[in-house]
Amino acid sequence: MRVTRFAPSPTGHLHLGSVYSALFAWRLAKDLGGRFLLRLEDIDQTRCKPEFAARMLDDLAWLGLDWDGEVRVQSQHFDDYRASLTRLDSMGLLYPCFCTRAQIASEIEAAGGAPHGPDGPVYPGICRDLPRSDAEARIAAGEQPAWRLDVVRAVKRAGPLKYHDHVRGKTACKPLRFGDVVLARKDSPTSYHLSVTVDDALQGVTLVTRGEDLLHATDIHRLLQALLGLPEPDYWHHPLLLGPDGKRFAKRDKSVSVPDLRMAGHSPAEVLAMAEALAPPART
Ligand code: GLU
Repeated sequence: MRVTRFAPSPTGHLHLGSVYSALFAWRLAKDLGGRFLLRLEDIDQTRCKPEFAARMLDDLAWLGLDWDGEVRVQSQHFDDYRASLTRLDSMGLLYPCFCTRAQIASEIEAAGGAPHGPDGPVYPGICRDLPRSDAEARIAAGEQPAWRLDVVRAVKRAGPLKYHDHVRGKTACKPLRFGDVVLARKDSPTSYHLSVTVDDALQGVTLVTRGEDLLHATDIHRLLQALLGLPEPDYWHHPLLLGPDGKRFAKRDKSVSVPDLRMAGHSPAEVLAMAEALAPPART
């Protein structure tokens, strides 16, 4: 059975762009006789707010985008991410990183720049060869590290990988361009890349649909799946909705926020139609 999902981060209100993304996953599940799941990606406890989460659920229900089963709330599952992190560490693929943003920036400047990956400048590897005993002493003294994937080792271990995207077909993964991604942040026992990969597997998602802005992230997710022995879902990266100025919608943009459209008296059918009207022609 096909299982799709919508996985918003409750850092603001739903807007027409996120409505389109939810509708995309919901409709595919309905058309394929599958299940549509909902997940709240609230690992960033400083930016995510319970009132946004509650309002998102209310707005999705009002739109008629009903989901199957329980909502998975990531902040309630930190142990699942810790378990995967421990597994990767026992494979010798992680290292603790104590760098501050400022240290990384000055190292990059001193080196005359760094390659730019999909998540920003590639980490210059300052902590990669720190002896583990030194790192453990610093942790014991109260320093909180981030945990990075040694991507060169990880790729060596996993070998060449591909994923299947509905629009693009078989696509070769190029995870090296990210550099050593953070899998657990200093302020959180996980990161977007780790939690999304673990959750899609735990929730039994077979078709991951999301915006094209996350296309490259799939290279890292596929790598983590291979390392952790998780099943490989299919992908469908859809185009992002753009406003009349050609820019993506932001959660703070009131003209497209669902609570504001609701308050202005629009019906659910009208809001869904507005999102669809802005959608670029489907590429199939
Ligand atoms: N939580 C992400 C966002 O709101 C989406 C993650 C995903 O679909 O993989 O942009």
